Amino acid sequence: MTTQTEQLVSTNPANDEVVGTFAVLGEVQVRAVVARARNAAPWWRDQGHAGRREALLRWKRHIARNAEDLVDLLHRENGKPRTDARLEVMLALEHIAWNAKHAGKVLQQEKRRPGLLLSNFSARLDHVPFGVVGVIGPWNYPVYTPNGSIATALAAGNTVVFKPSEYTPAISRWYVDAFAKANPDAPDGVLSLVTGFGDTGAALCRAGVDKLAFTGSAATGRRVMAACAESLVPVVMELGGKDAAIVAADADLPRAAEAIAFGALGNSGQTCAGVERVYVERSVRDEFLAELTKQVKAVRPGSDDASSYGPMTMRSQIDIVRRHVDDALAGGGTAVVGGRESVGDRFIEPVVILDPPHTSAAVQEETFGPTVTVTTVESLDEAVKLANDTPYGLAGAVFSKNRAEEVVAGFETSQISVNSVLGFAGVAALPLGGVGESGFGRIHGPEGLKEFTRTRAIATQKYAIPGMNLITFNRSPVMVRLLPRLIRWLHAR
Ligand code: NDP
Repeated sequence: MTTQTEQLVSTNPANDEVVGTFAVLGEVQVRAVVARARNAAPWWRDQGHAGRREALLRWKRHIARNAEDLVDLLHRENGKPRTDARLEVMLALEHIAWNAKHAGKVLQQEKRRPGLLLSNFSARLDHVPFGVVGVIGPWNYPVYTPNGSIATALAAGNTVVFKPSEYTPAISRWYVDAFAKANPDAPDGVLSLVTGFGDTGAALCRAGVDKLAFTGSAATGRRVMAACAESLVPVVMELGGKDAAIVAADADLPRAAEAIAFGALGNSGQTCAGVERVYVERSVRDEFLAELTKQVKAVRPGSDDASSYGPMTMRSQIDIVRRHVDDALAGGGTAVVGGRESVGDRFIEPVVILDPPHTSAAVQEETFGPTVTVTTVESLDEAVKLANDTPYGLAGAVFSKNRAEEVVAGFETSQISVNSVLGFAGVAALPLGGVGESGFGRIHGPEGLKEFTRTRAIATQKYAIPGMNLITFNRSPVMVRLLPRLIRWLHAR
């Protein structure tokens, strides 16, 4: 078994300034943290929905009152502008509040009809917490994204052990400590952090957690699933995307361009459900491109408060963005804004590429950078067909005054924004999840709360009906004779 041997140093992606130093936990330490979470689980479960609601709301208020400290860390460790950091914190708080307030109702006992054969029974369903949930999170929205699993799992009655990305441990430490500060009477282990690299995440999968919620790339998701499969630990997979926006001929083009510019370039394009591809009907293509160009040219990366987005958080991602831009241009795409020279060694200027080949990496693979492709289509049917033709299925957007529902019906994604981008991410009552390479399972909303519970079905015999009992070796001869007729009467008509 590995033990703690290394330190993890997190740095500011804009200037390499050290933000913090953290322990790299090995298998032994991760198991110990999971054991503490298991000890705390009965206490947390026994708080009931009312007690958990209060604890979660205290946590929310503590984060809100000290939000500028978290914003500062988000700016320094992840690189995003402070205003974007505030938006991220705001959205996370919305989700904590929603889960705190709705878990009791969503997860209350449900009565079920017992049916004719067992009409002397009552039937009900309980939603029971798993116990300890492991959460592995990414660096791009290091508060909002893991919070989608953490706040939901906690509200559903589980204790949580969180392994953040190696790029954002300081932000995560602050977020986890805030729970303990807001709830000094809670035992150690309701919400815990394990820091380290990928091996620490793998150790968490094998440390005896009852469920594992993973948010990250499909490649790592496969490794996480393989590790969890060893002990049949159930998983939720929130993976990447290659989301498309479709612009119909009847769209409000300035509005579409404004939203798409933000969806594509916001957070340096490092958004799982960011807009990476646009399909626009030919009749409005030039007008739309002019609007988009106007919007994009006003955007600039940087590290000061006036910048539109920050540096690339993970340096190795820059090579992927460069490869995608190169490939799209080499394949015949036209750089409408920026180009290869836009890809710097920390910051990437916006890039808009017109009509790259459908098979190019920039159209098929997740780029995760401030670039967007625009493809001309002859019809909305063609747009939908091309939009669906990647291995991913996270989200999509459509801009149209009268034909949006046609596109909504055709999209094979799990989330769709109409005349907007990313709207679903801010509605705490809506579930979030993917299909295909974008994963499976749901976080957020009622479906997310249920994802972090298992069902317990209870059938109670209220009274005996003499001679009618089938669940016995002492069945009455009348009942045995009746059974074939009953089968025909109930099910053959
Ligand atoms: P990665 O897949 O690289 O990493 C995700 C997490 O997994 C990190 O904490 C990482 O730790 C950890 N990890 C790495 N290797 C292992 C392993 N073998 N076992 C267990 N855990 C491991 O993703 P990124 O952090 O780069 O995040 C970006 C990706 O996340 C993009 O694809 C993006 O689309 C996706 N994403 C999806 C969202 C959704 O809701 N669908 C939301 C946000 C992002 P370490 O960093 O220490 O290596």
